[in-house]
Amino acid sequence: MTRPKLDLRTRLRRIRNRMRRPGGQAVILMYHRIADDPGDPWGNCVSPANFEAHLAALRRVARPTRLAELVEGLASGTVRDGAVCVTFDDGYVDNLEVARPLLERYGIPATLFAITGREGRDREFWWDRLGRALAAGEGQETDLVLEVGGEARKWRVTAPQRREIGREIHALLLPLSTEEREPLLRVLAEWAGVDPDEVRPSHRAMEPEELVRMAEGPLFDVEAHTVNHPALSLRPPPEQGRELERARAHVGTWLGTPARGMSYPHGRVDDLTRRLVQEAGYAYACGSAEGPVRMESDPFMLPRAYIADSSGETLARRLKWLLY
Ligand SMILES: [Zn+2]
Repeated sequence: MTRPKLDLRTRLRRIRNRMRRPGGQAVILMYHRIADDPGDPWGNCVSPANFEAHLAALRRVARPTRLAELVEGLASGTVRDGAVCVTFDDGYVDNLEVARPLLERYGIPATLFAITGREGRDREFWWDRLGRALAAGEGQETDLVLEVGGEARKWRVTAPQRREIGREIHALLLPLSTEEREPLLRVLAEWAGVDPDEVRPSHRAMEPEELVRMAEGPLFDVEAHTVNHPALSLRPPPEQGRELERARAHVGTWLGTPARGMSYPHGRVDDLTRRLVQEAGYAYACGSAEGPVRMESDPFMLPRAYIADSSGETLARRLKWLLY
């Protein structure tokens, strides 16, 4: 691929960056769902049309690169300047059905960090169940009571406050274990009048055989995102270790090679978590801290760029800012 033409401002920024830092600079993009979902409360979706525009922009302004290659480059001191890696977190089935064919069409590699437990398959991910409960009965004004950590919390749920209340409940549920969270999700489902066990096809996570299909071919890698998606640094160390080791082994059972990389659920990581990731045998880990990857970046705290449902032009501008 030839080097794209850059405008004057970009060229000046590039010169400034060169003077500041030795070595190349790369960006890892973080996606979740590729779907049209106007009710998406957490900003997890990029529409298929925008995703395709992003891929065209990547071809135009950057060098699409396999994440494994970028990580090897960091170790050997040869990061290709302008390298951009596409990643997905969680393992939604639209990654296989919608994103994968588009990535193939553009010849752009991608890495999926998959949750390896049954959440997302037997039941929807907890944040999707919370989002669905709060969206149900929109327009009604009702009281909601949840007992979290022995303390009863009460909200008067009105239409304009739903989003804010959703964020509050999200923050309360985030540090909990799956077992602690489940009864609260059932209270929420009952309050909203929705089936707590229904898995909407639009929100389903891939089954293991679908993850195997996702990983087929030279463009795609499937790595780990823990078993149950805990906010790792907020959980006891033995639980963190189990989550990391088992998820790595699950990937090995499905794909023949244990996971080499992982991404931190909810971006929650501290020094202890980082050490546990290394001890579990991973070669690298991606966080959610915003910014470019540089030669001096810690391979166990790789920054990523959260990608919103924006146009190809918006992404191109952001990439030029981050890369050059
Ligand atoms: Zn996640």
